[in-house]
Amino acid sequence: MIEIKDVSRVYRGKKKTITAVKDVNLTINDGEIYGIVGYSGAGKSTLVRMLNGLETPTSGTVTINDTVMSDLKGKPLREARQKMGMIFQYFNLLWSRTVLENVTFPLELIGMSKVDREAKAKKLIDTVGLQGRENAYPSELSGGQQQRVAIARALANDPQILLSDEATSGLDPKTTDEVLDLLLKINRELKITIVVITHEMHVIRKICDRMAVMDEGAVVEEGNVFDIFRNP
Ligand code: ADP
Ligand code: ADP
Repeated sequence: MIEIKDVSRVYRGKKKTITAVKDVNLTINDGEIYGIVGYSGAGKSTLVRMLNGLETPTSGTVTINDTVMSDLKGKPLREARQKMGMIFQYFNLLWSRTVLENVTFPLELIGMSKVDREAKAKKLIDTVGLQGRENAYPSELSGGQQQRVAIARALANDPQILLSDEATSGLDPKTTDEVLDLLLKINRELKITIVVITHEMHVIRKICDRMAVMDEGAVVEEGNVFDIFRNP
C-alpha cells in the first residue's frame, strides 16, 4: 500500500519559491490502477519522484508497505527503488543495445547470471508480446513496441508497483489503447499496483479504478473514476 500523508514539496530559488506539491493526502491500495491527472506544472512528476525516493518531501511522509521512503538511504533505498518499475514518455531505452539486452540490463546490475537473466528477460519479452524481436534494436521498432520493451525492462526486478509517467503521451490513439491493454493485463495477471500519471482523461477512463486530479500542486478531486466522470 502507498500512503501519501500531508506531503508538500517546496523548491526555494533565489528569486521565487515554488510549492510544487501542496498538502497531498492519498492512499493507493495494492492491486489498484490509480490515475493522477492534471495539466503540465500541476505537480504530478514531483509527486512521482517522491514515490520512488528520488526526492524527499519538504514536509509529510510517503509510506510504501510500511516503510517511510525518506527514512531510507544508500543500499536500502536502492533496493526499494529497484522494486518499483518505471516507464516514461520517451521510453529511456539503451539505443545501442538489443531488445534482449535492454531487458537483461537491470538484472545485470543486481548480479544475476547471464543464463538466468536471459531466461527471465525472454519470458518478459513474451509477456509484452515481442517474442521473436529479442535481437532487434529499439530503432527498428515502432513507438508502441519500444514502449513494450520499456515495460518488460520495468518488470525485470519483479516490482510490486509500476509507475507510469506519461507513458502513452507520445503514441497514436490505437497504439495507446494497445499499451493500455497491456498495462491492464499486467495489473490483473501479475497483481502489480500501477500508478498512472497522465494529462489524458481517456487513459484514466480506460484503465484506472480510482483517480486524483491535481492542480497547482494540490489534489482538487479524488475518488472512483466512475463517480468522477458521472458527476458533471
Ligand atoms: P507536472 O509533472 O504536473 O507537469 P511538475 O511536478 O513537473 O508538474 O512541476 C510542478 C511545479 O514545480 C512546476 O511549477 C515546476 O516548474 C516546478 N518544479 C518542478 N521541479 C522543479 C525543480 N527541480 N526545481 C524548481 N522547480 C521545479
Ligand atoms: P548510444 O550511444 O547508446 O547508441 P545514441 O547516440 O544512439 O545512444 O542516442 C543518444 C540519445 O538519443 C539516447 O539516449 C536517446 O535518448 C536518443 N535517441 C537515440 N535514438 C533514438 C530514437 N530512435 N528515438 C528516440 N530517441 C532516440
